Amino acid sequence: MEITREILWNIDTFTDVAMYVLAIAAPGSFAYGVWRRVRVWRRGLPLKPAPAVAPDGPGAGSAPPTIADGEPLLDDVPLAPGVPRVTNPLLRVIRHVFAQQRIGRIPWAWLSHASIFYGFIVLFIGTVIVGLEHYGIFGLFGISWTGRFYTFTSFWLDVFGLAFLAGVGIALARRVGLTPQVKPSSKLIDAAILWLFLLIGVTGFVVEGLRIAYDGPPFEQGVSVVGWGRAKAFAAGGLAGDAVRPWHLASWWTHMVLVMAFIAAIPYTKLLHFVVAPFYIALTPEHRSGRLKPVSLEEVEETGRVGLAEVTDFTWQQLVSYDACTHCRRCESACPAFATGKPLSPMRVILDIAEHGEHQGSLHGDVISAETLWSCTTCGACVHNCPVLIDQMGTIVEMRRHLVGEGQVVGSSQSALRTIASRGNPWGLPPEERADWAQGLDVPTVDENPAPDVLLWVGCAGSYDRRNQQVTRALAKVLKAAGVNYSILGKKERCTGDPARRIGDEFTFLEQATANVETLSQVPFKRIVTQCAHCYNTLKNEYPDYGGNFQVTHHTEFLQELIAAGKVPPAAANGSGDAQPAAGPVVFHDPCYLSRHNDGAEPVRDVLKSTASGGLPIVEPERAGCNTFCCGAGGGRMFMEEQIDQRVNVARWEQLKATGAKTVAVGCPFCMTMLDDASKADSDSGVAVKDIAELVAAHLPTT
Ligand code: SF4
Ligand code: SF4
Repeated sequence: MEITREILWNIDTFTDVAMYVLAIAAPGSFAYGVWRRVRVWRRGLPLKPAPAVAPDGPGAGSAPPTIADGEPLLDDVPLAPGVPRVTNPLLRVIRHVFAQQRIGRIPWAWLSHASIFYGFIVLFIGTVIVGLEHYGIFGLFGISWTGRFYTFTSFWLDVFGLAFLAGVGIALARRVGLTPQVKPSSKLIDAAILWLFLLIGVTGFVVEGLRIAYDGPPFEQGVSVVGWGRAKAFAAGGLAGDAVRPWHLASWWTHMVLVMAFIAAIPYTKLLHFVVAPFYIALTPEHRSGRLKPVSLEEVEETGRVGLAEVTDFTWQQLVSYDACTHCRRCESACPAFATGKPLSPMRVILDIAEHGEHQGSLHGDVISAETLWSCTTCGACVHNCPVLIDQMGTIVEMRRHLVGEGQVVGSSQSALRTIASRGNPWGLPPEERADWAQGLDVPTVDENPAPDVLLWVGCAGSYDRRNQQVTRALAKVLKAAGVNYSILGKKERCTGDPARRIGDEFTFLEQATANVETLSQVPFKRIVTQCAHCYNTLKNEYPDYGGNFQVTHHTEFLQELIAAGKVPPAAANGSGDAQPAAGPVVFHDPCYLSRHNDGAEPVRDVLKSTASGGLPIVEPERAGCNTFCCGAGGGRMFMEEQIDQRVNVARWEQLKATGAKTVAVGCPFCMTMLDDASKADSDSGVAVKDIAELVAAHLPTT
């Protein structure tokens, strides 16, 4: 006789009927829960194309196609440097659902999650096969569940069942700190789900083992490998023949009730991500985290509202995204605000919105406090770490827009917003002094050199801040030494509007952006070079929405080009002027707006190796490249007071110092200010802060 097994062996009529009752009740609970979530999603706004913000402004007609919210035009995060980005929703599902790429950044987490995921899928398929066999569907096609088909199915069901249990075991071990990990969710229900999985897996194998024990030798040796092992153990313990029946029935009942409880619980717990995450990932491109969603002026005029306040202000796609949350805490663990004791957990923001989905009224205040929203540095670590592509940072900025619209701007940033609007810079200094940093350096303005190859965008910090003026002077010296044909805008340059936009003041940003685009459109330069990571990001990623399509290069990349072209001399130990050579070892602090939002961590490392380090050892902090830890200045935080718990710049300073470096190299004026402040408070450390341009300039021949 060919090998097979009787389906629903030992199941009496009462149990059979009970199974059908539960098989209706559990999916009923599932369907009701999903229906309630769909009702929440339907409260959201429909998706609309991005607004054409400056239809008559400069560059009108040359703007790139606008991106409808969620339209899969572009994925933002490459698999690895040089690996092309995917635009196809199917490829995105393969990357994030099947390969679980972002979970893979923590190997133990990937092993655990992938084992549970694939174990679950195979066990689900196995259950479907058993159901089809039970109702004679295979028979209709002349297939019988015997012989090789049975052997193959049973073998792999056991193997994947074991993998499922192993995955659950690792997850439980991670919860008690046995593997390097992200701090697990403290919610009891999240722990209970893992125990539920464990019990489902174990009782499944017990049921199988008891059935095989009843059948007697050869116990399906080599087929149901795990069940066979258990059957031998049961037999050794004296459980055989009819004595098996009650035990089998009891464990079968337990297993069935647990499985039904699992199905019923899906929409009411984090298990909801099983259903929603693949759907949302297929719908949504990886976020271009450097580009914030523009505000539609017509809509603001029509509704008199700006930003997100109530659930009905969100798009349905945003509301779906929050239900995709796996409660994994990756966003929270990566968040510099959370790490330094601020009242912000990006996960909590997402879950609070989701939990509020069925309620009326504002989310601001009792649900999400202003303090929480103002704590964000817009570093993007949450967005880049989220395995299911949720845009926590974009949500926070859109909620800030509402606060700003209501006049609830946090005190210390108010004057920055005011002076950006009135004087074109957050320091409130006169535009006429914008080029004072260049005194004695023979730096041409666009009036003196109207058709430069390079338009040097200095930025407000590089223009007005004392320490950053030294950086701009060093960069100007390098450009001169390399024979670059360049100009500056001088007093015609204004703030790009980055701080205003990230604080949530979209209208001040819009004024700056349109004025700058108009100015830039009148200069026939080939490309913009800037030493400010924030200006770089805004000019490159956000100005195209306002008709400004320019080639923009960060100074670290431009320096790399100059060095590669032999236009900057190789490392030599002679210093020049106000720039001093590095003391080593050297560590580079990656700016979020270069290395994370714009994937630009590589060129600067080339510059360090070839020239800037002067041959001194280069070390890396634990958080480097696209995994960098913010300096604390982004999101307009540069212009806000920071009074709660540890300062973000101090936390980052400690991380950089722990590498043993004697020079901290930076590539952004905001990072310079924050880390320079931290170094002054720790003057005994003997660690200096230098911009990469200063390190390169230090090796120029003395004139
Ligand atoms: S953008 Fe940065 S600071 Fe803001 S919530 Fe995300 S991780 Fe935290
Ligand atoms: S928002 Fe994303 S990263 Fe944060 S807990 Fe949810 S799934 Fe994890």
